[in-house]
Amino acid sequence: MNIKKNDKVKILAGKDKGKIGKVLQVIPSERRASVEGLNLLIKHLRPRKNGEKGQRIEFPAFMNIANLALVCPKCGRPTRVGAKVTKTEGGKSKKFRVCKKCQEIIE
Ligand SMILES: [Zn+2]
Repeated sequence: MNIKKNDKVKILAGKDKGKIGKVLQVIPSERRASVEGLNLLIKHLRPRKNGEKGQRIEFPAFMNIANLALVCPKCGRPTRVGAKVTKTEGGKSKKFRVCKKCQEIIE
């Protein structure tokens, strides 16, 4: 997965195209993510009792990760993400995400 929770992403398609927001939740198995305040859907709740008002609840709908671009925290540009594997001192390999534009490692 190239996109993780709390990443800043730019939306590439749909009604909020071009907007930037923070990733709230990712479903890796479905390759979908939701972004804070974007791609909102409105759910209407009917009143349950007499005299109660119906409610409208706005919530961010899940989007395909293919429609999101990570905004690099180092250079601030929407970018594709590469992978870099480095060996740690203990001889284990660790994988990092790398910005394709500035080549910096993204935590
Ligand atoms: Zn960058």
